[in-house]
Amino acid sequence: LGYLYPPIRNLGQLGLTLTAATAGAERLQEILDAEPAVSDPARPVPEWPVRGWVGFHGASFRYPGAQRDSLHEVTFTAGPGELVIVTGPSGAGKSTLSKLLTRFYDPTAGVICLDGVPLTDVPLEFLRENVALLPQETLILHGTIRENIECGRPGATDSEIERAARDAVAHDFISALPDGYDTEIAPGTAMLSGGQLQRIAIARAMLRGAPVLVLDEPTAGLDSVAARRVVQPLRRLMAGRTTIMITHDLSLAPDADRILVVDGGRLVEAGTHDELMAYAGAYARLATPTAIPTAGLGLDHLAARSV
Ligand code: ADP
Ligand code: MG
Repeated sequence: LGYLYPPIRNLGQLGLTLTAATAGAERLQEILDAEPAVSDPARPVPEWPVRGWVGFHGASFRYPGAQRDSLHEVTFTAGPGELVIVTGPSGAGKSTLSKLLTRFYDPTAGVICLDGVPLTDVPLEFLRENVALLPQETLILHGTIRENIECGRPGATDSEIERAARDAVAHDFISALPDGYDTEIAPGTAMLSGGQLQRIAIARAMLRGAPVLVLDEPTAGLDSVAARRVVQPLRRLMAGRTTIMITHDLSLAPDADRILVVDGGRLVEAGTHDELMAYAGAYARLATPTAIPTAGLGLDHLAARSV
């Protein structure tokens, strides 16, 4: 799989925050294949200091060759620093939503905006700098741990990389390895746990420093102990950034600025936890069995968001 290294480095420069566990060359192929699906705007808008407004305006998407839309006329906004939680059953279109916001694909109808600018008018590299994705199936790059963090911002110094790793609560386990930051890692190796790989992905995203963050099921696939260990790093990562968090863990939903319930590609409910509980619909049914706080993200998670 050594041949994968140059394209992945390239992806890193595009600002994708890929990481982790089982790899899967076919997933990677999907990512590589997806690239030509979007192109730089012919007349790009000049770069600007991004505040972090996100707007979906009647956005629909149908995968090439598919019979039906995976997302259908989805409309919502998120303001700077807000937390929007996206939930709903498997296959609902949640990951597709994350791929549209990060411009892996362009909507087949409707418009998606960053600070009111259609994503298709934003220079691609600038967009990658400002909208960071932690994908559902994270990918580990061939290379050292340092390189795996550095690809969040190519050219970052060792001290910046260590700072990001400390913020992600990854520095201690990295330092404990015989080769430390120079430890070679590769897809499919069991040397690091899923939670450790996720913290490397978080360090990568910290280094990127993008004002908009898209988290696709950040605690899925982790056991309860590992999930608890990513709470603090995730809290630090989300503080002060617009965060679109896809999750089945609704333990922090009461403090989200907005909750979106997606089903069959459609936005079926949107509101705060209290509003949607009062509505007594799909969200209330999803939220009720998890009303008892479990091993996921604790409510304390949001404490840092108000700083
Ligand atoms: P979720 O993340 O909510 O589980 P997804 O966004 O991954 O759902 O998928 C939504 C729908 O789009 C599903 O019906 C899925 O089968 C379909 N889908 C996802 N990825 C692709 C793809 N690359 N090509 C065709 N269909 C896809
Ligand atoms: Mg998904």
